Amino acid sequence: MALFDGICAVSGCRFSLDYELELGFYIGRSNELGTPVPVDMAQGQVFGYCLLNDWSARDIQAWEYQPLGPFLAKNFLTSISPWVVTSEALAPFRVLRGTECDILPDGQLDLSPSILRELDWVQASVHGGQRMPRAAMTRRVEEALRHPAVRCLSHPLGRLIGRRPENALDLERVFEVAREHDVALEVNGLAARLDLSGEHVRDALRAGLRIVCSTDAHSVRGLGNMTLAVHTARRGGATAADVVNTMPWHRE
Ligand SMILES: [Zn+2]
Repeated sequence: MALFDGICAVSGCRFSLDYELELGFYIGRSNELGTPVPVDMAQGQVFGYCLLNDWSARDIQAWEYQPLGPFLAKNFLTSISPWVVTSEALAPFRVLRGTECDILPDGQLDLSPSILRELDWVQASVHGGQRMPRAAMTRRVEEALRHPAVRCLSHPLGRLIGRRPENALDLERVFEVAREHDVALEVNGLAARLDLSGEHVRDALRAGLRIVCSTDAHSVRGLGNMTLAVHTARRGGATAADVVNTMPWHRE
């Protein structure tokens, strides 16, 4: 009988327990034995989902790992939740594939067209080289707005309250091009940004634009910035009908 830290590694109490949170699938449609299902058809085979947990004893795992190498004595149970959530019930809760993409100094985006084509939502942002002259900065942003993948311009003026002034940008011209290419403007709710401001939201709505309220969150806590984004949008007279992320998703 082997001992690990004075505890029997084969039987007895476990002091370090681990469970893995995994996802189980219920297959609702059969396929011919030996015939693989192509990845892009896999979704159609799934009837529903459940939680699946693997339970293991970490102290046995540690003992096995050295010097014996991995065995599976540590795994003593796999359990599945009795609740099956059907694919149909989850259909309205789709997670979009999106990114915030840098606008390079010449107005190109920093991701390749093949990646951008795969995405549902692309926000384009100026993150560096913000002290460009007004005409060059406006051209740079205009160029990005014309890109067919771009759906929204993030923090359009790039200010950081008390730390960095607004970018020199002809906002009126940007609004015009955004309208032409059906690109929304962000109301960024990060307390240091609030960009667009309430006043600029009003101008954007007058120019016939739609806005996106977002958080610029870099943590779970940051998601609370949504309140500031919504209040800023309201200050500019926006209602839910002007805010793209209150609307159902339609992929063109
Ligand atoms: Zn950004």
